[in-house]
Amino acid sequence: MFKALKEVFIAIPLGLYTTMKNFFRKPVTIQYPKIKPPMYPRYRGLHFLERYDHDGSERCVCCGLCAAACPADCIYMEGAENEKGERYAKIYEINELRCIFCGYCEEACPEEAIFLGKEYEFSTDQRDKFIYTKDDLLVPWPRKKPSPVKFIRKTKRPDVY
Ligand code: SF4
Ligand code: SF4
Repeated sequence: MFKALKEVFIAIPLGLYTTMKNFFRKPVTIQYPKIKPPMYPRYRGLHFLERYDHDGSERCVCCGLCAAACPADCIYMEGAENEKGERYAKIYEINELRCIFCGYCEEACPEEAIFLGKEYEFSTDQRDKFIYTKDDLLVPWPRKKPSPVKFIRKTKRPDVY
């Protein structure tokens, strides 16, 4: 008898209170992919290769430090010289299937050429599409929007910019 009364006067109102409380709460889900969640500032997504702002030339000099720092061994490059005698990467590839998005390549780069961006929508059912070439990685030129990267050497090496 006491147990039944307890259920009627305590447990049921308590359950209804919990239901009503959550009924008026804003939903925590979003309508993806129509609405895209903002990524956290330190999120590391798909790579991109940067260019110099003044003429759009490639920042990468094919020094190989990013590949040496990469624990997953997923960066491949071949160097060459342009008509001005400047070294550049004739071939630069990243196997995004092997990549663990640790960001070591970005940290190792002395030219601030390689970065991990915020892009996360690059799934495909074809394995070879995960080999990103230089054409895939280089930011378009002329730029469609300002670079998301803050170049830390800008004030230290004004002759370069
Ligand atoms: S993020 Fe890490 S694993 Fe991926 S390419 Fe760079 S160094 Fe290699
Ligand atoms: S991306 Fe940077 S570290 Fe990698 S080869 Fe080019 S200049 Fe060197």
